[in-house]
Order: sequence, then C-alpha cells, then structure tokens
Amino acid sequence: MASSLAKAPVPASKNGRLCPTYIGANYLQSGPMTKCTLGFQGNLFRAFPPINCYSSDPKLATSHLQLARANDLIDQIKLKVFPAWRGAGEGHGWGWAQCVRWEAGEGGPSRGLECPLWCVLCRGGKERLKQACQRGRGVLCLSTDMLSLRLPQLFDIHQVPKVFQEDGIMSGYRHPRSSALDCILSSFQMTNETVNIWTHFLPTWYFLWRFSVLCSSLDFLAESYTWPLLVYMLMICLYPFTSSCAHTFSTMSAEARHICYFFDYGALSLYSLGCAITYGSYVMPDCWVNSWLHQHFVTIAVGNSLFCTSMSCFSRFVELQFPQKSKVLRTAAFVVPFLFDSFPLFYRLLSCCWGSCSPSEALASHSYHLLFAFLTCFLFASHLPERLAPGRFDYIGHSHQLFHICAVVGTHFQMEAVLTDMASRKDWLTSHSVLPSFLGTMGVLTLGILLNVGIIGIFSACLSQMPRQSTSTSSGAHLHQE
Ligand SMILES: [Zn+2]
Repeated sequence: MASSLAKAPVPASKNGRLCPTYIGANYLQSGPMTKCTLGFQGNLFRAFPPINCYSSDPKLATSHLQLARANDLIDQIKLKVFPAWRGAGEGHGWGWAQCVRWEAGEGGPSRGLECPLWCVLCRGGKERLKQACQRGRGVLCLSTDMLSLRLPQLFDIHQVPKVFQEDGIMSGYRHPRSSALDCILSSFQMTNETVNIWTHFLPTWYFLWRFSVLCSSLDFLAESYTWPLLVYMLMICLYPFTSSCAHTFSTMSAEARHICYFFDYGALSLYSLGCAITYGSYVMPDCWVNSWLHQHFVTIAVGNSLFCTSMSCFSRFVELQFPQKSKVLRTAAFVVPFLFDSFPLFYRLLSCCWGSCSPSEALASHSYHLLFAFLTCFLFASHLPERLAPGRFDYIGHSHQLFHICAVVGTHFQMEAVLTDMASRKDWLTSHSVLPSFLGTMGVLTLGILLNVGIIGIFSACLSQMPRQSTSTSSGAHLHQE
C-alpha cells in the first residue's frame, strides 16, 4: 500500500471535500500531515474541529521521505476509523475516545483519539459518509469498518470503576462519566443496562394505562372508598418509572449513580407504604378489622418505609468494604416492610389452608403475587444465573432483569387481587369499618414522600464523606485517565 500511496493521484483536499486520510488529532501532525478543516457542512457532522488530514498534494507533502515514513506507519497498523460520539463540551474529561482507535499489530498499543467528533445520525448522513469514504479509498485503503456508524463503545468490568461493577456481569458497561444525553441514547443501544431500563419503562405505561381505565370507571375525587386504591395506583406507576430512570442515568458519575439508586429505593419504599395503605383498607381479614393492628397498620408502615429507605441507602455506603453485609442490609430493608404488609394476606391464606376462610376470588391472585414476590427476593439475593456463569448473561438474562420482570408480574397480580377484594368486599367493609379518610391515604402518602425525600437528601449530602475508593476509580480503571 505504501508504494501505491506515494504515487497516488493528488486528491482533492480543499475545504468541502474529504481528504483521503485517517482521522487523528495527535498522531502524525508533522511531516506530510497537514491540518485542514474538513467541510462536512451538511447534516453529517456538526461542530467539526480541525483535524489532521493526509494529503499527497505535493504542495502539502513536504518530502517523499516523510511521505514514505507515514506510509510505513500506516502499513504497520491496522486502521479503524469511524465516527465517534463525543458528547457535549470540548471533549475534555470524558468521551468515547477509544471508539476511534488505532489497532497496532500484535502486542502494539491502542491509540485513542483525543479529538471531539460529533456525529449525528440523521437522514442521508450514512449515505454521505459512504460516498466520502469511497472517494477517499482511491488514495488510502480505508477499512470498511469506516462505513458502519458505530454506537458508543462499551467497556469490560475491569475498565470501569469498582462502584460501577456488578457481580457476574463481565461486559457491556457504559462509560462511567456519560452525559445525560448519552444515557438516554444508550437505552437504544444494547448494553448490560438496556433490558433493565425497558423492563421497568414499558410496565410503567402498562400501569398508567390500567390507572387511566380505572379513572374513567371510578370516582377517585368524590368517593373516599377509592382513595387507598388511588395511592396504590400512583405508587405502582412511580416505582417502575423511577427504577427505569435510575438505570438510565446511573452512569453519569459515581455520585449520580448513588443518588439514582437512592431514589429507586425511595420509590420502592413508598410502594410498600402504598401497599400497606391499600391492604389496610381492602385486604385485612374480616376478624382483624378494627383491631389494634388494623388501626395502627398504616402508622407502622410509615415507620417501615423510613427504615427501608434509610437502611437501603446506608447499604451503599458500606458496599465496597463489606459487600456481604451491604447485601444483607439491603435485602432486609425491603423484606421487613414486605413481610409486615403481607401479614393480613398470610393470615387469610393460612386460614384458608386450615379450611376456615371465607371464600374469596382474590386469593388466587394474591397467591400468584406472593409467589412472584418470593421469586423476586430470591433473584435479588442470589444473583443467579450470572453467578454460575459470569459473562454469559451480561446483556440478556441476568438476575436483575429477571428481578424486574418478576417484580412487575407480581405487581400485576397484586393489582388484580386488590381490585377484586376492593369490589367484592365493598359492602361488608363499608358497613363494618370506617371509610378511608383523605388524611389517612393521600395525607400519609404526602408525608411519606416528604420524609423519604428528606432521607435521600441527607444521604446524598453525606456522599462527599463516603470512603474515597467508592467515588473514585479502581486500580484497573484506565478509563479515568483518558
Ligand atoms: Zn433495578
């Protein structure tokens, strides 16, 4: 290639045409490499900086010697050039530098491109790039990889800071300092978080749809009997949405990751409060109605919610030093409110097993919900299946995805059970118990939200005091050095 290149026809290297070149900022700046600004003025590239172009124009190529040297270098290394998303800013600090890289021969180093490139995937963009590459190929043998527009590069476990690492997930990590826009775009790229994002984003819309149908058939404003259901429906829309957002934006920084998951835990905790409010109103066994537990059920649930959020947020602070302890704390944080909320349900199911229950259509749905809830807990705690085969389930099938799916399916059955209980027990409950009050439902939820946001605020403020290791990169994180 070197000799043919040296004799190549003079390419058009004026502004507005593609110089047949590799794209690289710091490499080969001297010699025959002459700076020119590529004039992709159309819709392909935006904010294109001056980049180095190779040109065999005799006026630009200062000597044959230098040209030959450059050609030797080009021959020695396999060139891979493709547009890279560098995100906002001037390309400092973060980016996808390794998307554009030189692949040296065996054992050679990879070179990152420290050049902010902006590539917009828009109508006709790919075609223009293809034409440009074909023009350039006549002079330089550009790799066909250049013809494919690539998404941001993903990283292996040893390339990201420890705080981002997940047990048994070996690849598919996004850049640990992604921008918000990158995070949103990454939800359309297959990463190890993509299925996590969608398995809670789509169910959010399902629950919103169910909520809107209920809004048209029930009078949530005037009928106080429906208020516990209103709280419950709001919470089952909120928790998957918050989780989806947390998974989307968790790679902006170590601090952002913690705060994202603080909100995720807070939403789950509020969901458990919503369950208690609705169970206290519709699911309580007949013989427990008006008992001490019934009267204090929601108050205790508020306490549980505070315990759940505090404990789960705290577990992130000890995660790096004591991963097992952290896991136990976090699991306990969610299991305690779940067991408490489900007490009335356990009683009803057990009394049915003993043959002394009043028949209820809802019990089957309640049972399915409990089954999926136990499965959810098991997946959360066990990290199966990726623990058995690290790296096999990075993108599809790891425990967190299954955990999301089981949680959502469980919530679906729970919603059906609550709706059935609510409708079938309405007459009995309204005649034997006081009607739910606004303060006891929406008031408690508002209080729960305020208290949870307060706890999240306190833990977020404490992040600066977190052990240094957790907010900085680990020893293997060479990304940070880019
Ligand atoms: Zn999740």
